[in-house]
Amino acid sequence: MVQEIISAIRSVVGIERVALHEPSFHGNEWDYVKECLDTTFVSSVGKFVDRFERNLAEYTGAAYAVAVVNGTAALHIALKLSGVQSGDEVLVPALTFVATANAVAHCGAMPHFVDSEYRTLGIDPLKLREYLEATTEQCDGFCINRVTQKVIRALVPMHTFGHPSDLDGLMAIAHDFNLVLVEDAAESLGSYYHGQHTGTFGLLGTLSFNGNKTITTGGGGAIVTNDPELAKRAKHLTTTAKLPHAWEYRHDEIAYNYRMPNINAALGCAQLEQLPAFLEAKRMLFDVYCKAFANINGVHLMSEQEGCRSNYWLQTLMLDEDLSCLRDPILQATNDNGIMTRPAWVLMNELIPYQDCPAMDLSVAKSFCCRMINIPSSPKFAV
Ligand SMILES: *Cc1c(COP(=O)(O)O)cnc(C)c1O
Repeated sequence: MVQEIISAIRSVVGIERVALHEPSFHGNEWDYVKECLDTTFVSSVGKFVDRFERNLAEYTGAAYAVAVVNGTAALHIALKLSGVQSGDEVLVPALTFVATANAVAHCGAMPHFVDSEYRTLGIDPLKLREYLEATTEQCDGFCINRVTQKVIRALVPMHTFGHPSDLDGLMAIAHDFNLVLVEDAAESLGSYYHGQHTGTFGLLGTLSFNGNKTITTGGGGAIVTNDPELAKRAKHLTTTAKLPHAWEYRHDEIAYNYRMPNINAALGCAQLEQLPAFLEAKRMLFDVYCKAFANINGVHLMSEQEGCRSNYWLQTLMLDEDLSCLRDPILQATNDNGIMTRPAWVLMNELIPYQDCPAMDLSVAKSFCCRMINIPSSPKFAV
């Protein structure tokens, strides 16, 4: 079976060494970055930041976008703006990249880990509802963890590998349990739930433009929201809380230097122009992989749910439950063969900094975490 999988991947990606996800710069990247260099506007002043923010808002349908240095910083500020304070708890999936948990910790709050569902790879709303009914109480509009007596302030769904979580179910939970919904849409630029862009359902949503994401600014992120006050606060907090003035440096609170530099935004503007083409290629790549794996028993590719449109950021092989023992041999053999593959993240509750955090039963995340393998997903393989 290991050999069959290698052959299937090779039939799609060719015979060279292949990375998991490579950026591609075949649009206006050179022109826009050159303009930054020629004009010397490479840093905190320049037109590309505003333009990138406008383009992002247009693309996602959010009223506002605020560009920042990375997705972790975006989530940190989004959580702060949603009222997360020191001593709070925040519900996050155990199956996520560490940034989700880190952003909670950067607020002085504690991540509280919840289980995922097989269908979406995101938080399971049914299981979470039962858990919250059994372990929390609602006092004066706050959700109190009966075990720790802490306020559970927010719920942070993450759209795993670009597949939208069950947002209807999760919005209902946020409503019923007095939780602020903040979406970690770092992986889901170009993914839609019932026709609406992911990241625009919560009070705030966050995006990442790290080098391995669907589009990249080198490093970068953004906060999206429909609330004009929150957008203004996000801009203020991410730009050292400097009051606008021609020459004076006066800051009215302790804030952050999280602004995205102009040269990164220039790259972002060019990348965003190509996003529709990247998405089309990634969708084609999914089809090509499906055909290549059609005759291999015991393994299938994760596909989008009905009513959802995935960006297919990372193609994901799922092994049948009785074949989980093959995950590591497959990872070893593919990487030895020059095909970069990787497993899902180690669950957050198993990481040293987060092992003592509150957590519900995580059996589903645990089960499929050790059966998932991401395979090369660069859009160029579709052509
Ligand atoms: C990429 C990513 C982030 C943000 O990462 P940065 O490297 O800080 O941009 C956040 N959450 C998830 C789930 C991610 O995959």
